[in-house]
Formats: sequence, C-alpha cells, structure tokens
Amino acid sequence: MDTIEYQSFILPVMMLAVATTCLALSRLGLQAALQWGLGFGLCALGFLFQIPFEHEPFAVVLSDVSFAFGYFFYGQALLVHFGQPTAQRIRQWILLAYIPFETFVVFAFGDARIQVLLNDLVVAVMLGLPLLDIMRKARYRDERALVITSSLLVLDALTRLLIFGLLGALIQGTETFSVELYLSVGELMAGGLGVFFALSVMGSLVMRVLRHYRDAAERDPLTGLFNRRGFESQIEALTGDEMQAGVIMTCDIDHFKQVNDKFGHAAGDRVIAGLAHELLRSLPPHAISARFGGEEFVAFVPGASLAEGGLIAHTARMRFSTRDWRPIGINRQITISFGVASAASVEQNAMKAALAIADECLYAAKEAGRNQVVLEGGVFEGTMQDDRSRNRQTGSNGRAG
Ligand code: GH3
Ligand code: MG
Ligand code: MG
Repeated sequence: MDTIEYQSFILPVMMLAVATTCLALSRLGLQAALQWGLGFGLCALGFLFQIPFEHEPFAVVLSDVSFAFGYFFYGQALLVHFGQPTAQRIRQWILLAYIPFETFVVFAFGDARIQVLLNDLVVAVMLGLPLLDIMRKARYRDERALVITSSLLVLDALTRLLIFGLLGALIQGTETFSVELYLSVGELMAGGLGVFFALSVMGSLVMRVLRHYRDAAERDPLTGLFNRRGFESQIEALTGDEMQAGVIMTCDIDHFKQVNDKFGHAAGDRVIAGLAHELLRSLPPHAISARFGGEEFVAFVPGASLAEGGLIAHTARMRFSTRDWRPIGINRQITISFGVASAASVEQNAMKAALAIADECLYAAKEAGRNQVVLEGGVFEGTMQDDRSRNRQTGSNGRAG
C-alpha cells in the first residue's frame, strides 16, 4: 500500500472511532449521541467505499448515498441536541428522491460532474436546514462551537458547488471542470473541517454530560429548585459580573410537623412542592431560589430593595395561605413565615451576614405568631388580624425599620 492510500484511511478510521464513542455514549441515555454515531459511521463508510473501488459506479452510488444519510443524521443530531421537534419531513423526501436520481445519474447518465455537484447540494441541504432551525438556540460555548463547525461544513459544500459548478461552467465552459480536482479539494476540506467538527461534537456531548451531573448535584429533585450548593454557585456566578446589591429572603412552613403527622409524609412532600411553585410564581424571573433543606427555602432577588422584597414575600405568603389543599387530602389552611434582609453585595461575607439577619427575622416571625413577613429592622406585615392590632399599637401601617 503506498502512502496516498494509507493517508486516505486516516479520516474514515478517525470517524469510525468517533462513531463508536458516540454509540457507546448513547447507551448512557445521552440524547443525540445515537444520531451523531450514525452520522459519523455513515460518513466513514462514504470515504471507505471510495478507496478500493475508485470511480466504480456502484461504489460511487454507495459512497454518495452514505454521505447523504450521514449528513441527514448529523442534522437529526443537531435537532435532537437543541430540543427541536425532528419532523423536518422535507429532508426525508429529498433523501428518498435522491437515491434513484443519483443511481440514474451515475449508471445511465454517467456524468461525474452532475454527480459530485448533486451530492454536495444534498449534503448541504441535509445539514443546512436543521442548522437554520437551531442556530439561535446555542447557549453555551461548546454549543456555539458546534454551530460554527456545522455551518463550516455546509459552507464548504456550497462554496465548492458555487466555484466549481456554476462559475466554472459560466466562465470557462464545462470542459474545464475537473472532477479529480473537485474531489481532491473536497477531501482536503473534509479532512481539515472533519477533525474540528468531530472535536466539537465530542466536546458538546461531554459538556452535556457534565452539565447534567452538575445540575443533578445542584438541584433538589422534589421541587426542581437549587439546593444549597446550587444556590451558592449561582451567587458565585453573579459575583463575576458586578457587585450587585439585593434582597435575601428565607421562608419556612408553619407547624409543618403537624401536617406530616396528620396527613402523612407524601402529602407533606406535595405541600413542599406547592410552596416551591408559589415562590417561583411570586419571584421575578432573575431571582435565585433554593430549597435549603426540609421545608426551608431561600431566595435572592438581585437589585431589589427591602420594601420590594417584603412585597414579594407578602404575595407568596398570601398565595400559599389561600391554596386549596383538598385535592391532596388536606382539609385545612397551611401558612408560611418569611424573614427578609437586604444584602449590600453578592460577595460571600455580605451574603452570609444578610442570610443570618433574614434567619433572625424568620425566627421573629415565628415568635410573633407565624404566617407573617418580618423585615430587617421590624415587622412588615402579618395576617389581616395581626396587622390591625399592630397598627393600633404603633399607629403606623405596620412597617417599622
Ligand atoms: P415551625 O412553625 O416552628 O416551623 O414548626 P414546624 O413544625 O414546621 O418545625 P420545623 O420547621 O422544625 O419542622 C420541620 C419538619 O419538616 C420536620 C420534618 O418532619 C419535616 N420535613 C423535613 N424534610 C421533609 C421532607 O422532605 N418531606 C416532608 N414531608 N417533611 C419534611
Ligand atoms: Mg417549619
Ligand atoms: Mg423548618
């Protein structure tokens, strides 16, 4: 085997290795890995068919069809990876129509020029259409890299189409079109881009696994909110931006032991999930909320004032206390208490201090009879009845501090 033949095995063998890894990853339940595996496997076959039977018509058809299916699965993989519905029927119809057309062009027509241009057009469409759908969905760096390398593959096919196909024909006539040159340029580009593409695919799969496990380690499975660790890493991520001030609130269900004792632990769990729901409904979207354990929740609202924090807590408290629990077999009202404190910044010590004050306020709320919000510096509001008696005592609207 001479050097050139040896080199032409490098790319398909590498792609087969990537395909095998992807298929192994798909067994771990990793979404899109199966489609990536099929894509790389089929494209590797596309290269391999060309090696021993160069220019044999049946090998040309097998090779081209493998590439077309390979790119079809690349496209499927992108759609699955970015959670896009995979019903792009037009691609399936193009793929099906392509097989007889390609066979006709190669066997009956024998025109190598149309055959290579047609193949580039089909692979560009197979990957290009899904790309148009998902390109604005890339959120992380690895996903953006994936979109870039996929776009380069499509552009590569389209550029060759344009330069060799259209311009070649227009400017110098069809005679100057060299299939040999076209294929060499194709192989060169595919080799270079193929390596980057494979790396970006593997990178996106690995990052997806890492994000999955990090998420699992940082979230509470019952409520879907962050746990303490997740809360801290979210706050740390804020520290990178700017030192934001905000408000921190802690919340605890009143007499929850009684709920558990009387209605069972399963019903208690659903009450906890219900509280998470009401908190999310009442907090602004940029707030960071977490279940710190048991039936205790913490939320940080960047940029909010103490009064705004009090209002959010009040809304959540009202919504929660008026919830109808009868569908889960609880025939009584359940209430929550809040402590709210302002945080001068998201810096670790400032957050710790604010959290301690919010906890003190929560304790004060419990002491004062529960079902109320205590703000740093004094009571914000309690039940309607409490408010009235407090107002009588203080002559104010109940807000101190
Ligand atoms: P207080 O008004 O003073 O808060 O009284 P409480 O009875 O709610 O007291 P506390 O907050 O200490 O109660 C915590 C209870 O929460 C004890 C435990 O049985 C219950 N709990 C902790 N984690 C869970 C959980 O995951 N599911 C359920 N159902 N109950 C939990
Ligand atoms: Mg409690
Ligand atoms: Mg508690």
